[in-house]
Amino acid sequence: GALSLDKVESHPQEDLSAYHGIMVFAECRHGILAPVTHELLGIGRKLADQRGAGLAVVVLGEGLDRYAPALIASGADTVLLVQHKALAQFQEDIYARLLARIIRERKPEVVLAGATAIGCSVVPYVATLLGTGLTADCTGLSIREEDGLLLQTRPAFGGNIMATIECPNTRPQMATVRPKVMTPAEPDPSRKGEVLQIVPTDDEVQSAATVLESVQSAGDQVNIQEVEALVAGGRGLGSEKGFALLRELADELNASVAASRAAVDAGWIPYPHQVGQTGKTVCPKLYVACGISGAVQHTVGMQSSKVVVAINRDPEAPIFNVASYGLVGDLYEIIPELTRQLREA
Ligand code: FAD
Repeated sequence: GALSLDKVESHPQEDLSAYHGIMVFAECRHGILAPVTHELLGIGRKLADQRGAGLAVVVLGEGLDRYAPALIASGADTVLLVQHKALAQFQEDIYARLLARIIRERKPEVVLAGATAIGCSVVPYVATLLGTGLTADCTGLSIREEDGLLLQTRPAFGGNIMATIECPNTRPQMATVRPKVMTPAEPDPSRKGEVLQIVPTDDEVQSAATVLESVQSAGDQVNIQEVEALVAGGRGLGSEKGFALLRELADELNASVAASRAAVDAGWIPYPHQVGQTGKTVCPKLYVACGISGAVQHTVGMQSSKVVVAINRDPEAPIFNVASYGLVGDLYEIIPELTRQLREA
């Protein structure tokens, strides 16, 4: 629809050396900055320092001035606040055109965004408008010393290999970054930075679409990426009832409940709880895997958890390869006993 109205530019002859610095798109939803922003600033700062260049962060929305100090403390040299009441809610075409305009004007060498629902929707649109490449869902980013190119690493072929992708001929080099993978910036309130206001024209906030209502799905109320402990269940639970058992254990551990894809596909728990390649990447302090075999598509999403406890009746289950503690046995015996002992402790 709207995309076809915009001229898609390609600029193979353009002078790539005109591009400098790192730009981060900070996502603000319902007036809250996405936690991935501080992770993007952490890696963005690192890349900027390696390139001896600046780090800019761009936020679109309304009433954004209060976020600037935190963004500067997290490493931004320049905060670009794009404010208009029409930006209060995410609108893909408006956001994409404004981001493309700002990127054309400021010419950053690298643009990073979170691989969130909003990032995955708007950033490919921006890359198309600019005629440049995009690597989606990166889990690693670094600068190659010889030529300063951004090396963008992401799982490929079902998580069986890690692919490193380069964008040699166009700028900016764009990547979306998986949440919870990069280390968040350590805030330093004494850092200094500049804040610039960008006011869109009325034309720039015209959309081809009208948002009637924005509803949050019930399963999203607990974000499994933001909790310190998870108790996860797989096909080994045997039925939806198994999750009631997990919730009792989770309550004792102050944990939330997560799941393998097999459990989600069986309809025992909604998709926002899924961990893995086609679910979420999590890295809590504690991950208890119950009746989960440990397929690579699952373990890519949880293997950086601090402590992994696996409960499985099959001593050969691959989940034990990534577990700090393994309990071999029937989860219907082990979990109630564990819950009872924690309750008494
Ligand atoms: P199973 O592999 O069936 O394992 C069940 C385990 O429970 C077994 O190890 C068994 O020994 C144990 N068990 C059974 N009964 C008991 C009991 N009473 N007590 C103790 N242990 C018991 N999977 C994901 O999880 N997340 C993803 O995002 C994901 N994305 C995918 C993407 C692609 C492209 C593909 C091809 C696959 C993907 N998968 C994903 C699926 C993945 O390959 C596995 O099929 C899935 O993770 C298996 O789930 P599971 O471990 O719960 O089930």
